[in-house]
Parts: sequence; structure tokens; C-alpha cells
Amino acid sequence: MDIDQLKQHNGRHLWHPMAHPQAIRDTPPDIIARGEGSWVWDIDGHKMLDGVGGLWSANLGHSNRAVRDAIVAQMDTLPFYNAFRGTTHVKAIELSTRLVEMMQPEGVQAVVFSNGGSDAVEGALKIARQFHKLRGQKDRSKFISLRQGYHGVHFGGMSVNGNSNFRRAYEPLLPGCFHVDTPWLYRNPFTDDPERLSEICAELLEREIVFQGPDTVAAFIAEPVQGAGGVIVPPASYWPRVREICDRHGVLLIADEVVTGFGRTGELFGTRLWGVNADIWCLAKGISSGYVPLGATAIGAKVADAFLSDTSGLGAVSHGYTYSAHPVAAAAALATFDELVRLDVVGNAARVGARLQERLRRLPQRCAFVGDVRGIGLMIGIEMVTDQASRAPMPRTSDIPARVARAAYRRGLMVRISGPNLILSPPLTISAEEIDFLCEVLEASFDEVGASL
Ligand code: PMP
Repeated sequence: MDIDQLKQHNGRHLWHPMAHPQAIRDTPPDIIARGEGSWVWDIDGHKMLDGVGGLWSANLGHSNRAVRDAIVAQMDTLPFYNAFRGTTHVKAIELSTRLVEMMQPEGVQAVVFSNGGSDAVEGALKIARQFHKLRGQKDRSKFISLRQGYHGVHFGGMSVNGNSNFRRAYEPLLPGCFHVDTPWLYRNPFTDDPERLSEICAELLEREIVFQGPDTVAAFIAEPVQGAGGVIVPPASYWPRVREICDRHGVLLIADEVVTGFGRTGELFGTRLWGVNADIWCLAKGISSGYVPLGATAIGAKVADAFLSDTSGLGAVSHGYTYSAHPVAAAAALATFDELVRLDVVGNAARVGARLQERLRRLPQRCAFVGDVRGIGLMIGIEMVTDQASRAPMPRTSDIPARVARAAYRRGLMVRISGPNLILSPPLTISAEEIDFLCEVLEASFDEVGASL
């Protein structure tokens, strides 16, 4: 197909995630053709810094040679074999060992592999319910999660998702899922004081657990830093409080680290930011630098022990996929872990992330329709408003966010728009010079759209 045919055919036959098929026909997406380091090229040869990082995923940048070589070598050795009950393979064993070693500070004992983030969440929710059954608490089936949270698109994850856009078309969802307020400093009806907000939101969680009946609640699931919801960083005391509350009521804590895992926040795992251990972690994206689909549900000691000490048979993991621990994905992940260390990727994310945060936090002074800039490490959300003083939200129908994104694209920067938010999650290997370029382009793009209003 030539370039024009490709553009035409995309809208005809390909239904894209999170988009109306008709909208795709009317406004065709950009066709990305090549990637190298922090950069991507579209099919017309236009070069852009990848501010999206694939989709919070290309943590090592594009076309990392070591990961590519590991994938090719695995393809030449064993492209696929299953890791169900009767068989296993070398890469599955090596990867589980390596991941458990990496998560020793967390006390992780075992991992269940899957194909991506939604799968990792599904595994976590199922294992949480099974854990309580194994301990004789069969009524503990409910889940509590945060408004604005994102946990993927399967029925379990969708049911704990905190954004009705992902839920409405598919209701009714899983019964027994309840939502409480996110400690979101910029938008909450309570207070502008982070410490007070943390107290209030923790109390709301506890009240919900008590209201439901603690003996009916299986787990609380949340992202250490909310990503898709607009990059919402909780106050530092929130997660420690949540941990205490979960312990007080025998509720498991599930950390959805699909975005925050493997360095994005400047810490290897998001729970380390808050000095808190979860009981179960959901991992994907950066685990393989996004080169091949892979997800993992990591299981802490308390949960693992309940399975290992079971003699009834109920502790069998009646869950898993044909492609759980796919050898090519496992090889990619092992090479990714080597590169994380060799390139000091997490240290770089912390260093250049601080540079990015510091400079972009000044955007509201420069641009009247930027209300809030928030984030940590190499995840950042820029929320657009119609009025800074009243924080009046930018209407969903406004074309301003898309115009900023187009201006950035023309200037050589790929960004992502999610509602009123412009979201950045560049590769964790991005250099300080590339960060400066990103900031210059973004400032110029906001200036351009601001001047046209
Ligand atoms: N959890 C979180 C926190 C996510 O951000 C995402 C995807 N962005 C998912 C789960 C779902 O992952 P996937 O798209 O790989 O299924």
C-alpha cells in the first residue's frame, strides 16, 4: 500500500481503542513509522520527540539494541511454549526469579504472568478474592477503588475504574465495586491543605469499608500516582494511612503499578515513593519497555503463604493465559531489566524528571488557560481550564487541547491529550537536552494557541 492508501484504509477497517470509529474516519490518526531513542518519525518522515513514550511504555526509548537482540535470539531458540502445569521454559524461570529478586524490598514471593496491564489487574482482583476464601473468609468479595483511577478494560478492572467514560457503554458491571474520593489537591470540595486532604480522603476510605462491612471487603486497589486520570499525585501521608486502614480491617492493598512500575516516577516502583508495601502489585508496560506485550501480577508474602499452606486444593491458580510468560516477552523483559541497570534508567528519570517538573510548573504564569501542572519524575499532567482563578474546567467540546497538541506536533513533539489534560510520559532514557527541547516546544505551542484566542 502507498501512503495515501494506508491513510484511507486505516479509517475503513481499523477500530482504535478509546475512539469512535466515525471520528477516526473524520480525523485520521498520525501513522507512526519508525522510532529511535527518544524520537519517532511519522509516515511522511516528520521527526518528533516522543513525549508519550509509546503509551507510558517505551521506557528504554525506541529500538533499544539489547532488547531487540534478546527478542531475536529467543525467536531463534524457542518462539513459544506454554507454562501451564506440565511444562515451563528457561525464560519464564529466569524472569520470575529476577522479578522476585528485584521486588525483595517489597517482600514479593511469586508472580503470575499475563499479556498486559488489564490482565495484571484481573489477576490481582481474582487472587485477592481467592486469598480470603483460602483463609475461610468467603464473604470478602467487594472491591473499593478511587474516583479518576484507571485499571484497564476487562470486566473486573472496568468495574473498579473511576471514570464513567470507560464504564457507561458496558454496564452492568461487576457487582460489589465501590469508589471513594481521590486526594486530588487541585479539584476537591474539601480543602487546599494537602495534609488535611490526605486525612479526609483516608477517612472516607475507612468509612466506606466500615459501611460495607469490613468482613465483605476483599481489597482496595489504587495507582501509587494516578496516570490516565490526569497524573494525580497524592499527598505523601496518604498511602501510609491507606496501609494502616487496610491492615486494621483485614483488607488487601493492591497497587496498580502498570504506569508507575519500573522507574517512571524516579523510583523503581511507585509504592517506594510512599514507603509502603502493597500485598499485590499489577505490572506491565515498562516491564518489557513495551516492545512485546507482557503483564505480571506480583504477590507479596502474606498472600503467597495462604496459597502455599492450603491443603484443600482451593489454592490452585485457576487463572492464566496461553501466553502467560511468553518466552519472547520474557526475554525482552530480562534484557530490559539489564538495561535499566546498565543505563541507570531510574536515576536518569529522577534527575531529568526534576528538570522537567521544575520548568513546566511555570506554565500557568505564562499561559492563562493552564490551570494546573502536576506530576512526579517523568509523568506530568497539564490541566487546561477556561479560568485560572475559578479553576473552571475546560469543556470536553473545546478544541483548545487538540490545537496545542497539533502545534506541538508541527514543532516536533508528540504529546497526548486526555480530556482537558495534556499528558507527558517520555522515555526514561531521555537526555537533559531533549527535556529542554520538549519544554521549549511546549511553551511555544501554548504561546501560539494563547495568542490565537
Ligand atoms: N492500569 C493502569 C494504571 C493503566 O494505566 C493501564 C493502561 N494505561 C492499565 C491498567 C491497562 O493496561 P493495558 O492497556 O496494558 O491493558
